[in-house]
Amino acid sequence: MNRISHWVNNKVVAGTSGKSGKVFNPATGKQESEVDLANIADVDAAIASAKGAFPAWRATNLSRRAEIMFRMRELIDANRKEIASLLTQEHGKVPSDALGEVARGLENIEFACGVPAMLKGGYSEQASTGVDVYSIRQPLGVVAGITPFNFPAMVPMWMFANAIMCGNTFVLKPSEKDPSASMFIADLLRQAGLPEGVYNVVHGDKVAVDRLLEHPDIAAVSFVGSTPIAKYVYETGTKNGKRVQALGGAKNHMLVLPDADLDMAADAAISAAYGSAGERCMAVSVVLSVDTVADALVEKIKTRVPNIKVGAGTDPASEMGPLISREHRDKVASYVTGAAKEGAKVVIDGTDKAKDEGFFLNPSLIDHVKPGMKCYDEEIFGPVLTVMRVKGYDEGLKTINDNQFGNGTAIFTRDGGVARQFPYEVTVGMVGINVPIPVPVSYYSFGGWKASLFGDQHMYGPEGINFYTRGKVVTSRWPDPRTSQVDLGFPHNR
Ligand code: NAD
Repeated sequence: MNRISHWVNNKVVAGTSGKSGKVFNPATGKQESEVDLANIADVDAAIASAKGAFPAWRATNLSRRAEIMFRMRELIDANRKEIASLLTQEHGKVPSDALGEVARGLENIEFACGVPAMLKGGYSEQASTGVDVYSIRQPLGVVAGITPFNFPAMVPMWMFANAIMCGNTFVLKPSEKDPSASMFIADLLRQAGLPEGVYNVVHGDKVAVDRLLEHPDIAAVSFVGSTPIAKYVYETGTKNGKRVQALGGAKNHMLVLPDADLDMAADAAISAAYGSAGERCMAVSVVLSVDTVADALVEKIKTRVPNIKVGAGTDPASEMGPLISREHRDKVASYVTGAAKEGAKVVIDGTDKAKDEGFFLNPSLIDHVKPGMKCYDEEIFGPVLTVMRVKGYDEGLKTINDNQFGNGTAIFTRDGGVARQFPYEVTVGMVGINVPIPVPVSYYSFGGWKASLFGDQHMYGPEGINFYTRGKVVTSRWPDPRTSQVDLGFPHNR
């Protein structure tokens, strides 16, 4: 059995807890690896390595840091297929989706190569007579990242690239369900020349997370995962004096107005709902259709669903892979079964044709969904698209704004005025106009509103740089006898 251990000081280090977790291949349902689950001592060792590396890494000049990140960019580019195949093996996503994940992660590495330009402060000459003022941004120290199962390569890249380019050292606690990508990336960072202790990985569960949240040497925590854990991480981390950004779950609505191109809307809904088997925090899970076009739109979606090829990522024909685990597959299926009982119309039931081997679930389509139904109120995180009918734009907007989550949303229309009004009025962090999955490019920042984000700073891009640094303002004067005098009054400009 393949064993996955921690990564400390640029080396694989065996855990000492005696506890391990099972890592499955979701396409076969078979266990492939055993992953060490850290105890407090294992986490402390990783933090100590990061703490020890911090002074020298912080002192490493910006050009040298950028040189390492440029080399990392080349190494990831050269290893796209290897990383993607690890994602297929442990997460289940098909190669086109896995390669897309690597590509979007790589954009964050590329952005990070330019971090020196983002760290430029301001300078005001002669702010007062003979006095200059300048601002600088400095790293925080040891920062931690805690990541979810659904993007085992990209979400760590959202975090560590900017964190270490800003001069911090990093401890990653990846999802214990698909931990191999973070280890592969660790070795690429070593090959790129990253010094020992700058990037560390501890695998684990709640024990490891809690230790990171309470350890006095952790200055900040970036978290991505489900809303209840995001809230817990935010509350516990901030209570312990840490800076925390915690991104949570989602329920993303796609509002389709009657003037939209319905074929384009149906294609977009299919791609965004069933891509990655719906296990994306930016997946479309609710189509809000204005009722005059709802029948036509549902029909167009319904005719497209049977064309989706569900299968293992090792089969080049597959477009949608399995879910992450048997338990999750069964939970997702229960939303479809429950929807019929709650009065919704199950147009396509994907639960009855699931394959015996692996954690597969076919796509489902549920119409006439309403708030108060479980399949609407809760995040499903699987290949289930629900349709809610609304009278018009105003009711659609209100539905989105009343929802507890605010991660992503999209409007499909040809009306420029409404398309402009929608981002102004909607209480969601990432908005698409005829774009169903509006994940911001790496030089903007990623994050939702409401129960999709706990904290003030979104992830990566400019807000990521703010998160991983703190500001300092220096007011300076050089000795000049002409400006020296005793003055006990409060300093002001003269
Ligand atoms: P999860 O919340 O179960 O796990 C996330 C991380 O928290 C993992 O590293 C896990 O080990 C740890 N964890 C789990 N339970 C814990 C506990 N009780 N105490 C402390 N730590 C714990 O999420 P997941 O199932 O891995 O990922 C799916 C979720 O992530 C979905 O809700 C999805 O919407 C969300 N997500 C959000 C974004 C975003 O950007 N907002 C992106 C990707 C995924």
